[in-house]
Amino acid sequence: MTTHTLPETPDTADIRKQLEQRLEERLTLLQDLEPRALPTIDPVAYQTAAAHRLTIQQISVALNRLDAGTYGQCERCGGQIAPERLEVVPHASACIECQNHAEAA
Ligand SMILES: [Zn+2]
Repeated sequence: MTTHTLPETPDTADIRKQLEQRLEERLTLLQDLEPRALPTIDPVAYQTAAAHRLTIQQISVALNRLDAGTYGQCERCGGQIAPERLEVVPHASACIECQNHAEAA
């Protein structure tokens, strides 16, 4: 039995929908947190809000990359990000190897 492997063609419409949904979720969460997200008032909310903002930024970048046709490419080494990773983190901008490297540095 021969398995003909086609190049990975991600369903961009589906990915876009997922990213937009996540973006909306984060924006809602951030809106709820914002009024008390100050280090002096609620440090936990402050940290959570910061994490949401970072994710929102990453999702926006991922949407731009989707438009540019570079979605799924590692921004550090240019390699393909593993589909399993994108399934868990659709806004990932680096492959596991590069991400681990960046976190260890
Ligand atoms: Zn990489």
